[in-house]
Amino acid sequence: MGANRHMSVDSRGRYTPEAMGETLLGSEGPTGSRSHNLLSTRRASLMQEPVLVLNATYEPINVTAVRRAMVLMLKGVAQAEEMHNAEVHSAAHAHKVPSVIRLLAYRHIPQQSRALSRKNILLRDRNTCQFCVRVFPSSELTLDHVVPRSRGGRSTWENLVACCYRCNNSKGDRTPEEAGLKLARRPRPFTLHTSRQLMRLIGHRDERWRKYLFY
Ligand SMILES: [Zn+2]
Repeated sequence: MGANRHMSVDSRGRYTPEAMGETLLGSEGPTGSRSHNLLSTRRASLMQEPVLVLNATYEPINVTAVRRAMVLMLKGVAQAEEMHNAEVHSAAHAHKVPSVIRLLAYRHIPQQSRALSRKNILLRDRNTCQFCVRVFPSSELTLDHVVPRSRGGRSTWENLVACCYRCNNSKGDRTPEEAGLKLARRPRPFTLHTSRQLMRLIGHRDERWRKYLFY
């Protein structure tokens, strides 16, 4: 993240009004051009960069995307602690892009209470298909019910795993044993321990995270 990047915000890109709050950020109106499209692509990837979220006490609690982090800042819920050398522009303002944010009010994080979501299951399984043990981009992974729903398998941390489409197809409506597949490891709930390990893993990419994660 060396270069100072300037990006426009229009109402067409993935920087949507729902995500950012159009009234908060303003909008460039209906202008649009080819150069905008190019900028949109670069901006979209910048908006998906990971941002470390600290509790009010500086304890690392989560990783989110730039887009979401900026919403929290604009709402006054969080403030930036570290910045990227990049900005996004709206009609009236330039917004520095955060790398680390901190919640202004302390949030109690109960142990083992990560939301059960596709995103968190892929994070837990490190984007690795739990049957063929290959790593895939998120878009090429689905969630597999180890015990199929048709057999009473539930949507729980212990019964959902990241799975590539190929393995998912060959497994079909069967248990792994029936399909001749073996799980890479037993699926477990996402604990704070797992989550901190993952934050460190992601944090290796961004020097600015180090002092909050490696203590
Ligand atoms: Zn697979």
